[in-house]
Amino acid sequence: MNRDKSQAIYEKLCQIIPGGVNSPVRSCVAMGQLPMVVEQGLGDLVTDADGHSYIDYCGSWGALLHGHAHPQILSAVQKRMQKGTSFGITTAIEGELAQEVIRLIPSIEKIRFVNSGTEATMSVVRLARGFTKRDVIIKFSGNYHGHADFFLIQAGSGLLDVSSTASSAGIPEEIVSQTLSLPYNDIETCRAIFNHPTYQSRIAAVILEPVAGNMGVIPADQAFIDFLREETCRQGALLIFDEVMTGFRVAKQGAQGFYGVRPDLTCLGKIIGGGFPVAAFGGRRDIMDFLAPLGPVYQAGTLSGNPLAMEAGLQSLKLLQEPGFYERLQYKTDLIVKPIQRKIKEKGWNACIQQAGAMFTLFFGKEQIRDLNDVLKINTVQFAKLFRSLFKQGIYLPPSAYEAWFMSAAHQEAHLEKTYQAVIQFMEENEE
Ligand code: PLP
Repeated sequence: MNRDKSQAIYEKLCQIIPGGVNSPVRSCVAMGQLPMVVEQGLGDLVTDADGHSYIDYCGSWGALLHGHAHPQILSAVQKRMQKGTSFGITTAIEGELAQEVIRLIPSIEKIRFVNSGTEATMSVVRLARGFTKRDVIIKFSGNYHGHADFFLIQAGSGLLDVSSTASSAGIPEEIVSQTLSLPYNDIETCRAIFNHPTYQSRIAAVILEPVAGNMGVIPADQAFIDFLREETCRQGALLIFDEVMTGFRVAKQGAQGFYGVRPDLTCLGKIIGGGFPVAAFGGRRDIMDFLAPLGPVYQAGTLSGNPLAMEAGLQSLKLLQEPGFYERLQYKTDLIVKPIQRKIKEKGWNACIQQAGAMFTLFFGKEQIRDLNDVLKINTVQFAKLFRSLFKQGIYLPPSAYEAWFMSAAHQEAHLEKTYQAVIQFMEENEE
């Protein structure tokens, strides 16, 4: 496979951009090969700088629910662009997208738009602390909420050793000392912390990915979600769902629709931008009204609510409300997940494929994954081998064993068949 052009571009990039990438996972370091240098995308395909096409399961890390270059999104944005690209002044389309989100997700009574998931989660935590006048934030190990300082922490090792340390250089320990990272799906540890005299009246909020997607797909137990809802209410803490990845992906109402739970605040991103930089946070009116200019919690953005991005988001949400959209998406996801699942069972392979709506992960080396401890035992070498094997056959997986694979409405049945056959063949040839 000749990838000379990609190689030359990447080498140049490396001289002027750290690691040649603007976000680390793209570098493909863990996959042991040259990263993809993409030239264009259409539907479920991306084409690289050397002209090779790949079936894409990265989909801009889940943002592209409708596939690449969707004609309806493109033409609406092109039309909108004729009127100017950014104003830093209010536009009516911000209200149109806000209205649409509020209609689809009942827990969101008011919403504010930002430009990235990181901004949404960072702002929502400030809001939660401002509203509750408390300082401690609880998160869960292996959940990712963007790269704000206070989220980049490693949990302590013992059950009640909740002292956290920063997982990146450049973060003062005082900043992470007010975030606790607890094991996912573990009610007893949460209960112990909630009842711990040091923390009891200090917990501002519990934030979680209700279906974890950033350590591979791990749906939370219903009992865990229900416990968190009850306990936060009892303690006067807020429950925040980070649905940057799961929003409009695991179901039309996101994971909160799937679990039938109403969080106090929700973060959204990816799909609400239709491929443009949009994210948001929203929730209870009384909490949202704590934001400036109404309230004392400051939050702002030059390009927030940018009309081009709003237009793309609006079209994205219109498309997913077409009749039968989620049924078709589920059918497509099943087309790939079910045959692999059947084969794993039939052969007794030490692997599993976990799914929630239109996202799934194939894990090697474990038959079930429930938390970060399980994830740390998976066979990442085997995954890297699978990645390289599929890449050669024109299939692009997210380049990490710890990520979700993303289905889009644009995926073609023939491509899904090609993918599951290639995965099964790989597993047969590389049986563990
Ligand atoms: N929260 C979740 C659940 C995410 O999956 C991500 C990114 O993947 C983020 C927050 C951060 O979003 P962004 O990369 O847009 O800053």
